[in-house]
Amino acid sequence: MLFDDIIGQEPAKALFRQMVQSDRLPHALLFLSAPGSGGLALALALAQFLLCENGDGTNACGECNHCKKASKWIHPDLHFSFPTVGTNAISDHFLPQWREVLATNPYLEINDWLQHIGAENKQGNINKEECRSIIRKLSLKSFESPRKIMVIWLPEYLGNEGNRLLKLIEEPPAETTFILVAENQELILNTILSRCQLVKIPALQDEEVAAGLQQQKDIPAEKASAIAQLVAGNFNDALKATQQEESDQAVGFLDWMRRCYKGQPRELVEWVDGFAGLGRENQKHFLRYALHFWREFLVLKTLGPEQVRLREREKKTAQGMAKVIEIPQLEAIVSLLDECTYHVERNAHPKLLFLDTSIQINHIIKRWSAYQQLQERRSLIAGSR
Ligand SMILES: [Zn+2]
Repeated sequence: MLFDDIIGQEPAKALFRQMVQSDRLPHALLFLSAPGSGGLALALALAQFLLCENGDGTNACGECNHCKKASKWIHPDLHFSFPTVGTNAISDHFLPQWREVLATNPYLEINDWLQHIGAENKQGNINKEECRSIIRKLSLKSFESPRKIMVIWLPEYLGNEGNRLLKLIEEPPAETTFILVAENQELILNTILSRCQLVKIPALQDEEVAAGLQQQKDIPAEKASAIAQLVAGNFNDALKATQQEESDQAVGFLDWMRRCYKGQPRELVEWVDGFAGLGRENQKHFLRYALHFWREFLVLKTLGPEQVRLREREKKTAQGMAKVIEIPQLEAIVSLLDECTYHVERNAHPKLLFLDTSIQINHIIKRWSAYQQLQERRSLIAGSR
């Protein structure tokens, strides 16, 4: 993760750069981060910045071997510790899940994490065994970088076990940096607090949240600022709001596809009548979702179901469709939807446009060879004009 990937928080980025440039990086930093403000994301970016061997002093290069590994969170000198559940559980047991959530949302909060590892109602915990594991890891020589970095997410969960780490945090081995990312100062042991340099990571501004949604999730400006106004600077909440939106889109989209597949005129006209009334922005948003679905469908066809970024229900539908839709048909659908987006932007008559698109999708799926012949004839006619 690069500093540029992180929404806002310019003062913190400037502070880190200055610390490194002046060679005054404390050996233990504690980010006091408002929920959803990006404390963990900043820790990941700072870690990569410190590990990079080709940086220009203000940014990591993003391309060296260290950057590549750090950006996938598999660098052997970048260690993570975070709350887990289960007796004697340690963070290392949960690294695959940890990398998964970081890849989808580094702005996550504790409940998202516990849900992701199936903790149900159990409380998370950084236990005695984990403290031992931290001590053990940092006592080893570094593997590939001269540095070692230990990111501890939510040291609030250390409880009294944290006292085991005091000596290490106070006098870590050479070239070792602790980055602790906390949300609640009152729940951190004073003995730990007093050994770290505090960096406050404030809640994001509404405009920053909105810009982040536009850049990272391709949400239209108006919708992005509407969401930003509801979440009080918490980007994690903002992402959830967009997922809700996306899942509403998914329901509508799957319904449309089912009707296109069956191809019953009455059902199609009914759908088109309802859809035409939604307005241009919503239609564009819907088409954007549709293209996202088909992109993931291509991933499903080529790389298999593990790589697909769709929710369960969508994935099931996609797997069903994969049996009847081949890559050339997929290409035809995608170019049809591209064309459809083009016409929506130019104010085409929505009822005619979407009825025609629906019928063509039906033909692509059900009467592929007839559809191809028709397309060939059309291009011949266009060519002879
Ligand atoms: Zn690099």
